[in-house]
Amino acid sequence: MQTEPAVGGARGPVPTIGWVGTGIMGAHMCRHLIEAGYEVRVTTRTRDKAQALLDSGATWCATPAEVAHGSDIVLTMVGYPSDVREVVLGGSGVLAGARPGALVADMTTSEPGLAAEIFDAAAVLGVGALDAPVSGGDVGARNGALTIMVGGREEDLERVLPVFARFAKSVTWQGGPGAGQHAKMVNQVAIASGMVGVCEALLYAQRAGLDVARVVETIAPGAAGSWSLSNYAPRAMRGDFEPGFKVDHFVKDLGIALAEARRMGLALPGLALAEQLYVAASAQGLGGRGTHALLRALATLSGTSWATTP
Ligand code: NAP
Repeated sequence: MQTEPAVGGARGPVPTIGWVGTGIMGAHMCRHLIEAGYEVRVTTRTRDKAQALLDSGATWCATPAEVAHGSDIVLTMVGYPSDVREVVLGGSGVLAGARPGALVADMTTSEPGLAAEIFDAAAVLGVGALDAPVSGGDVGARNGALTIMVGGREEDLERVLPVFARFAKSVTWQGGPGAGQHAKMVNQVAIASGMVGVCEALLYAQRAGLDVARVVETIAPGAAGSWSLSNYAPRAMRGDFEPGFKVDHFVKDLGIALAEARRMGLALPGLALAEQLYVAASAQGLGGRGTHALLRALATLSGTSWATTP
């Protein structure tokens, strides 16, 4: 009998966890589960990216279906909605291998409509499905301090809560299938213009000849402060544009939010402007860099460049 990795005092049979997608976020999240003592079955597109997890005791599986076949709960954390469709609904996807009574939670930032489609396809098989996208970035994933926004059935969330608690500081049920993804879109709409503001503020500080670090330190505790300013300005100042959160993933998110807003008859011009600026950043070859690389695209607009602080 496996030792119970008790969470918050909860006791009961220990589920075997399946994990699909071990990129920037998934690798950290999955690591927390292995460290907690869960038995984990894992697959991802590029096996090297799972090697550290395999070395820590996870079992490699060739496909998401194989992951699901031996798992009670399967968590997916891939890139785009097309990836989610493939790893959950595809011929070798999670639902092709899931046992009745199993549960799949997609944690990718994806489309609300796809989440509802997965819920319906899973229900036919007697499998539970949640959409459970996250915020908190690579820092939150590393530190086990993510926020999870959940759509689906509340009783399914209850089952997976002890698992989520291993890498989340906040888990909130938002409503039926797709509601988690809608909540994540609210998060992205709120962040989008803020990121433009952070990047423009840094450029302004530089062009005005200020000590950028000093001015950021001065304004961060006030009304201009934000998670984005505190976490991304230091990276930009030392010339570190590694993701974090990739520009192309943000373009994906802002596109989903715009499409949903259009479908609901809602005009969100601030969001549309941010999306266009991020599309430009991607077109300038910055798609694989972190979202604070917008700074470099904006600098190009003014015929200048971003000077890093040694
Ligand atoms: P990432 O580093 O690109 O990780 C995605 C992983 O999924 C990659 O390792 C990728 O394989 C794998 N994958 C993609 N398609 C697959 C498939 N068909 N089969 C198997 N594996 C597949 O991205 P991330 O930064 O971890 O982000 C993951 C999701 O979380 C995205 O939807 C993103 O928008 C969202 N998110 C990210 C952050 C953040 O700060 N990074 C924060 C909140 C939410 P390869 O390695 O071969 O590409």
